[in-house]
Amino acid sequence: MHDTLPDDAIKWQLLEQTIKSTLQSYCYREIRTPILEKTELFSRSIGEATDIVNKEMYTFPDRNGDFLTLRPEGTAGCVRALLQHGLINAGPQRVWYHGPMFRHERPQKGRLRQFHQAGAEAFGIQSAEIDAEMILMCARIWNKLGIKDVQLQLNSLGSYASRQKYRGILVDYLSAHKDQLDEDSINRLTTNPLRILDSKNPEMQALLQSAPPLLDSIDSESADHFATLRALLNSNGLDYEINPRLVRGLDYYNRTVFEWTTDKLGAQGTLCAGGRYDDLVEQVGGKATPGVGFAMGLERILEMTGFSNAELGLNSPQIYQVLVGDAALDNGIKLAERLRDKMPTLRILMHCGGGSFRSQFKKADKSQADYALILGEEEVAKNTVNIKPLRKDAEQYEIHQDDLLDEITNLLQPIQGQTGL
Ligand code: ATP
Ligand code: MG
Repeated sequence: MHDTLPDDAIKWQLLEQTIKSTLQSYCYREIRTPILEKTELFSRSIGEATDIVNKEMYTFPDRNGDFLTLRPEGTAGCVRALLQHGLINAGPQRVWYHGPMFRHERPQKGRLRQFHQAGAEAFGIQSAEIDAEMILMCARIWNKLGIKDVQLQLNSLGSYASRQKYRGILVDYLSAHKDQLDEDSINRLTTNPLRILDSKNPEMQALLQSAPPLLDSIDSESADHFATLRALLNSNGLDYEINPRLVRGLDYYNRTVFEWTTDKLGAQGTLCAGGRYDDLVEQVGGKATPGVGFAMGLERILEMTGFSNAELGLNSPQIYQVLVGDAALDNGIKLAERLRDKMPTLRILMHCGGGSFRSQFKKADKSQADYALILGEEEVAKNTVNIKPLRKDAEQYEIHQDDLLDEITNLLQPIQGQTGL
């Protein structure tokens, strides 16, 4: 579990802002749910036989002996909240969330125990255009973040019934080659055989490549749904690869599943994963309602994203107030408050603790501010202020305090134009 220090927090803010504005442009509305939920919610929705429920959840009894779990993902909480507050029955819902998730995994690059996801979910829409919308939203986010090396992998798991049928076919095939299965897969053969397809063990790749393809077993309605989705992606110019072995680690998926992957991050190359889960709402206790969504891993996305110096500069002051003497302090605080009234995004840092001009200038320089705003006894007496550019070789100059707002507006115009948070 990591701390996020200010130099990195600005990157998180920029990332979250990009995701938020993109999802809101598709009219997804934010939902915030508690970080703790009853354990039962996750075991019922994610599935007893999954890695998450089996070995990754942080679960403990509270003082009443109720079992609670730090949320390992966001979908279950969304479904619970929308059900509990009657929104699921109030027509289609498009929501998004972001925040920390917790899984007790072996910590490694790209795999943390507290990590962060942003996700979107849509409920009450059966047809494939919403699956396409999910994928288009992700593509737009990559685009806005300047992420290029990312590929879309797509598969369809079919209906629950066709998946059960395929399960049988797969178990027959794998049982016939049991000597080639690793220990994990032999265990999964009875608990969660589809997950074996997802194995990263290089020694099993040949066996898995020749497994009967899942897509051959899916029902005709799911096949039509998948064809519509592919046609929509094609007409929007989105490239994808059909990956017949893409099954996803959570039990609740049916029909569409997708992952966005990259080869730039080593072993943990999945940036985002999602799909359809038409049975989930019913499983959690509501009436049958289709659902589709995705979750993106923000740590991994952050690794793929570069921010400009101007964007990172949002972390430093634009103006450093040099204040020498009590009168200057009093005048300076009031002056800065008036500036903030007029320019709410202005970042102005007040020097605290006194000291000579010389020592305050040093601090101004170190602060990365663009300008020092200087007030000493003389300036206060004349109702003026001195401005010293800190990032270019230019002389300090004096102006009347009444002209300060206009002057700063002029000076900072190019900076003001940049993306604010
Ligand atoms: P994997 O097979 O890699 O364990 P998963 O199926 O557990 O993946 P999801 O639950 O679908 O992954 O999570 C969606 C995304 O969240 C992942 O693609 C990844 O980007 C991110 N993610 C999942 N677990 C972690 C983790 N422990 N640390 C960092 N990011 C994670
Ligand atoms: Mg996992």
